[in-house]
Amino acid sequence: MNHQKVALAAGLYLVATPIGTARDITLRALDILASADLLVAEDTRSLKHLMAIHGVPLGERQVWSYHDHSGEASRAGILAEIAAGRSVAYASEAGTPMVSDPGFDLARAVTAAEGLVTTAPGPSAAIAALTLAGQPTDRFLFLGFLSPKSQARRSAVQEVGRVPATLVLYESPKRIQALLGDLCAELGEARPAALCRELTKRFEEVVRGSLGDLRDQLAERTLKGECVLVIGPPLPVEVTEEDMMMALQQELATGTVRDAAAAVAAQFDVPRKQAYQLALKMQAALKDGEGAA
Ligand code: SAM
Repeated sequence: MNHQKVALAAGLYLVATPIGTARDITLRALDILASADLLVAEDTRSLKHLMAIHGVPLGERQVWSYHDHSGEASRAGILAEIAAGRSVAYASEAGTPMVSDPGFDLARAVTAAEGLVTTAPGPSAAIAALTLAGQPTDRFLFLGFLSPKSQARRSAVQEVGRVPATLVLYESPKRIQALLGDLCAELGEARPAALCRELTKRFEEVVRGSLGDLRDQLAERTLKGECVLVIGPPLPVEVTEEDMMMALQQELATGTVRDAAAAVAAQFDVPRKQAYQLALKMQAALKDGEGAA
């Protein structure tokens, strides 16, 4: 037996569940599922099935449903249970509750009522994908699912295009091709990326390459299963001295050398000292020119 009954204080226990392989559940998650007074799930059948796989008895306990469309009344019911001193375990269909899954409004309502909110952390497709993608993980930005509409999707990508971080996106396999098209248009075809599919499952696959490579490779396939797209940080932009001088000239017409250097350094993502020295050189040349005239 992998679980044990434990005494749980009244409160909401957000329990992460596997994203594929059932044995990825943590022992503590099983203890909480075995011990909570009330079980609540986005998909009650999936939770019962998971508990059955791990031999966690449901006994006389109820499993309530709570999903994205559950309203105030459902939350009030769960809050009343906690207020009456009961422990409530909540699991979304797979992975970590609230990561592109329900649970946020519920956890916020419990916190607002000064109830205990805690978690049994565990699997999440975003973290599993980052682990495998081969892109930097020191800074990452989780975008979840973008809009299915191309225009809205493109503006969302534009907004974060130059953020110096790895981007993580969830997408349905049916829309991956359209998403890759928009990403190539907004971020450039050269940006490195990885498509992570069916993680922890039998047909797990990671396809690595540039956004353009992925778009071309995947155009010939009918993708199935669950997908996470990981995109590496922006590539350094090649800046010529001429580009910087033109920008500095504009800035120097209205501002100080220091301000012009700061603005141009930010614009071209170069060290401020480099822009400052170039601005000084330009000013000196300008003064020499005026002196000679
Ligand atoms: N709460 C979950 C988590 O923590 O990752 C995410 C739930 S969201 C509704 C479902 C999306 O997560 C899928 O469409 C896919 O993008 C991603 N996903 C879930 N399981 C996956 C897996 N095994 N492999 C790849 N992506 C997965």
